[in-house]
Amino acid sequence: MYDLLLKGGRIYDGSGMPSSYADVGISGGKIVEIGRLNGGAKRTLNVDGLAVAPGFIDPHTHLDAQLFWDPLGTSSCFHGVTSVVVGNCGLSLAPAKPEDRDADQKFCPRGSDQPARA
Ligand SMILES: [Zn+2]
Repeated sequence: MYDLLLKGGRIYDGSGMPSSYADVGISGGKIVEIGRLNGGAKRTLNVDGLAVAPGFIDPHTHLDAQLFWDPLGTSSCFHGVTSVVVGNCGLSLAPAKPEDRDADQKFCPRGSDQPARA
């Protein structure tokens, strides 16, 4: 018996292969089976017509500083993003040479909506 059964969703598994329709069985917080599933479940959701994806990778964010006070990156995860890449646009908080720290402090509040005091 699954803890959760997602029935009839369109699966985007992140492999780059075309999507397909399938059911997803979840137990113990992990996907345990994908296919046409008929086993019982504590909870079943009809996801027909919906996309089912493990999450999305955002390859271009400016969350470098924000992740220090918002470790979940809520501006991204609320939109289904599960992984982010930081250090884009030639800017990152680390490594920062001592002589470059002033420039980082001046740019980051504008480039990443970071409070200047952070
Ligand atoms: Zn950028």
